[in-house]
Amino acid sequence: MMNCRQASRLISTAMDRPLSRAEQLQLSMHLLLCRNCRHFRQQMQQLRLGIRQGRQR
Ligand SMILES: [Zn+2]
Repeated sequence: MMNCRQASRLISTAMDRPLSRAEQLQLSMHLLLCRNCRHFRQQMQQLRLGIRQGRQR
């Protein structure tokens, strides 16, 4: 089972490149159990959307 540090690293990695199937599986297992990391991923996704919208302007 991965810890929160590993999970948050994978979450940031997922912003740059697609995760492997094993990484996705491990991360989703962690996210099921950990509300903090779910929240972190939401924030990262919103941040990423914000950056994209900024570039389009
Ligand atoms: Zn966590």
